[in-house]
Amino acid sequence: MDYVAGIDLGGTKIYSALADLDGNILCESKVPTESWRGYEGVVERMAAAIRDLQREARLVHHGRLLAVGVGAPGPLDSNTGVVYQAPNLGWRDVPLGKNLESLLATPVFVENDANLGALGEHAFGAGRGSRDMVYVTVSTGIGGGLILDGHLYRGAGMGAGEIGHMTVLSDGPRCRCGNKGCLEAVASGTAIARRARREAGAGTAPVILELAGGDPGKITAVTVAEAASRGDERALDILTGAARFIGIGLANLVNLLNPSVIVLGGGVMESGRLFWQVMDEEMRERALERACQTVRLVPTALGPRVGVVGAIALALQRARDGQD
Ligand SMILES: [Zn+2]
Repeated sequence: MDYVAGIDLGGTKIYSALADLDGNILCESKVPTESWRGYEGVVERMAAAIRDLQREARLVHHGRLLAVGVGAPGPLDSNTGVVYQAPNLGWRDVPLGKNLESLLATPVFVENDANLGALGEHAFGAGRGSRDMVYVTVSTGIGGGLILDGHLYRGAGMGAGEIGHMTVLSDGPRCRCGNKGCLEAVASGTAIARRARREAGAGTAPVILELAGGDPGKITAVTVAEAASRGDERALDILTGAARFIGIGLANLVNLLNPSVIVLGGGVMESGRLFWQVMDEEMRERALERACQTVRLVPTALGPRVGVVGAIALALQRARDGQD
């Protein structure tokens, strides 16, 4: 039986899976990335993870591994498999695709993790069957991927889908990209935590501070969501502020792309029903009516598996392209 593999490479773990040609997962594993081993050590761990799965599924001598899809963080070139920058791994300009390909003796295709999220949700998740879909993930950062006319849209320089860096506040806080007032700078988990810490430090968020054990430095977006679920006004205020900004970002996307579905994932999206309601209302208030009538906001169907399932979707797509 022929099969494919997917790898979701993260800063802390390597999540791998094998799947049959219909995308059914045969087996999967998670191993620590151990980025302290350096680039070559991590690539070897990725290859070893796939070999272990092949043994587990007893596929070593049966069938062929047709393709491997890899989701990697940071800007990269999906044509060459070169990762330009992965700060949490300490990588710069590394030929990940080529190196993994020679270790596994199988074609390897590398894609950024947000694009893979879009591919995964489109092929096997909440965006199944749609032609025009946007995937947005809101966690420590904000990322996105675009499926337009049934295909992943990468843009001229592979830079499309950077939803987190659309400006939503002209004089807003500085973003890590250098710009001011990016969506990520005002509505990511990091931005939510930063605002809550500031307020806790100033004495205006006592409930949040208490949940963090009295240490403002320990406040995260999860602490804020927890306080909000207990009805704390300040936490609700911080969260609805972020939800409004995401709604603004979504309104811009709806006006520009007229998608039929926007799939939303990431930890911040688990901040409760009110968060979704505020975001949805803000989007519908701002976007043009015709485009609004056709769009649905839906939660991710794949959750934490979105990356590895997306990597499998990519491998399947490339394996099929190779057979054409
Ligand atoms: Zn930015």
